[in-house]
Amino acid sequence: MPTVRDLKSDVKPIWCPGCGDYGVLSTVIKVILALDLEPDNVAIISGIGCSGRFPAFLNTYGFHGVHGRALPIATGLKAARPDLTVLAVGGDGDAFSIGGGHLAHAARRNIDLTYIVMDNEIYGLTKGQPSATSPTDILALTTSGERKGNRKGSLGLLSTHRTEDALNPLAMLLAYNASFVARAFSGQPKDMVEIVRRAVEHPGFSFVQVMSPCVTFYNTFAHYRDTVTPLPQDHDPRDRLAALALALETSVSYTGIFYQERRPTFNERLDALRPPQQADHLQSVMQQFRR
Ligand code: SF4
Repeated sequence: MPTVRDLKSDVKPIWCPGCGDYGVLSTVIKVILALDLEPDNVAIISGIGCSGRFPAFLNTYGFHGVHGRALPIATGLKAARPDLTVLAVGGDGDAFSIGGGHLAHAARRNIDLTYIVMDNEIYGLTKGQPSATSPTDILALTTSGERKGNRKGSLGLLSTHRTEDALNPLAMLLAYNASFVARAFSGQPKDMVEIVRRAVEHPGFSFVQVMSPCVTFYNTFAHYRDTVTPLPQDHDPRDRLAALALALETSVSYTGIFYQERRPTFNERLDALRPPQQADHLQSVMQQFRR
């Protein structure tokens, strides 16, 4: 059985001290241990940005992909190696801007992998430009206008009026009919471990938006401590319309499992299409490959 020491690689995280992404890294380690997964049966795929470094910090298999392409790479891997536990990781820029088109297709394929998006509502690696999830009153590097509102810009630059509104990732994923949609907060690690564990266990495409503040360019820890609250106890995660209503709520940020549905995964559908002899042959080829 692996230990924390086995899972941590020799590469030390170079994220800024206090970055929300540390909590996600520690969560993934705890989930691998809780599910008793062997490190060489786990693959973690990233795109770019601060979150792109994630696979390097773990002794699992990993792949640091290019801009916005974590999901296609993870999809191909899972289709070819259904025996692996595959996680894709990214940030809001990677997931919702340049890679945004892949979300709908991962959801409709119901490929059995978990996509954890560390959403800090800003581009951190490139030093603080607003992203697709930044609120309209953000003070950041490339916004313009006069200073107004109460959210502080990290660089002290003037801004208020963004010309775009923010995306709502949970509402998007619910509209795409992803079979597992959840949100967690880096400041609540215990709850996050439970949510991510259930996402990894879910057979199908599981999406977890983690509110993971960028302490250097847009520190929202205090804001989320005031506004994050668990989903109502009577919420039924089989009710997609109720999940959508909760995702659209702006006065608070709910955390928990908004929606979950068991339906055939991409690999299960592929297997159903194959004649039995071909499926047996593929199995034997895979076994030889693993030796
Ligand atoms: Fe984290 Fe922001 Fe630093 Fe990137 S720039 S490591 S997101 S705190």
